[in-house]
Amino acid sequence: YAKADTHDSIIFHSDEMNIELEKRIDLERSLRKGIENNEFFLVYQPIIHSTTGEIKICEALLRWVHPKWGLIPPLEFIPIAEETGMIHSLGKWILNAACKQVKEWQEAGFKNIGASVNVSAYQLDSTRFIENVKRALELSGLEAKFLHLELTESVMIDKSKKTVSMMRELKGMGVKISIDDFGTGYSSLSYLKHLPIHALKIDRSFIQNLNQQSPELSIVHAILTMGHGLGLRVVAEGIETNDQLAMLTSLGCDFVQGYLIEKPLEARHFTQWLEKKQKASNL
Ligand code: C2E
Ligand code: MG
Ligand code: MG
Ligand code: MG
Repeated sequence: YAKADTHDSIIFHSDEMNIELEKRIDLERSLRKGIENNEFFLVYQPIIHSTTGEIKICEALLRWVHPKWGLIPPLEFIPIAEETGMIHSLGKWILNAACKQVKEWQEAGFKNIGASVNVSAYQLDSTRFIENVKRALELSGLEAKFLHLELTESVMIDKSKKTVSMMRELKGMGVKISIDDFGTGYSSLSYLKHLPIHALKIDRSFIQNLNQQSPELSIVHAILTMGHGLGLRVVAEGIETNDQLAMLTSLGCDFVQGYLIEKPLEARHFTQWLEKKQKASNL
């Protein structure tokens, strides 16, 4: 019996691996068609002012509903898009879609709402990136000051001259740059004072474990002190509890984001969220 069991489990594992491999190959092959067939869409999560509760920007987060595999999380398909080079056209699509949507919300009366768009380090390898940003702003009519781009620290690690000059050009256009998942990379902090950065987003892992006794309290405090000292805005992402919100507010964190405030919503639900919020503030 023992032998049979072992045999079964080997078959089971290799089946699972085959499915994983098959899925990956399939995703790789169907990325391009997925864009053409409108299988991608964006969901939006509010980022609000910690003390006034006013909405500042919404982060656009990508979703893919694959005809065979169903809803696929970005952490599964973004790396494939990066490896295959599809990230460039996908990234262009994301920029256009997010700018257009946020401009619509502005025209519907939510005048000061901005868009925050995640940008993969790979996108900055292409000089077309700046053109894509310009084009997205032109096509949508969104003012550059309402567009934030979220880059991760990995972009700063190999801060080639090209990347830095691209960031400067973006800033020159009026576009704002945030460092996403701040604190998890291994880059030197000295880049912060040299690069044209507008905001730091404290990584969710620090927020998750935040309490009066945890070492995360010192880390979050240090990030806030340093960020503010450098004249940067600080955003906390992944806030799930009232305790976390209260602590971050009392620590002076500027903006907050997380399931406690609202989860990422499809555009039409985000519109309803904005309307509900506006009604509440007019009471
Ligand atoms: P990120 O940019 O750090 O986005 C935050 C992630 O945390 C999102 O996951 C969001 O849904 C999730 N989140 C927000 N609030 C909470 C919370 O309170 N608790 C928990 N547990 N999670 C929360 P999502 O949408 O699965 O995206 C994962 C990552 O995929 C993003 O991390 C980003 O790195 C990447 N990504 C998503 N959309 C895009 C995109 O359009 N372009 C690129 N290049 N990357 C993207
Ligand atoms: Mg992000
Ligand atoms: Mg993040
Ligand atoms: Mg993250």
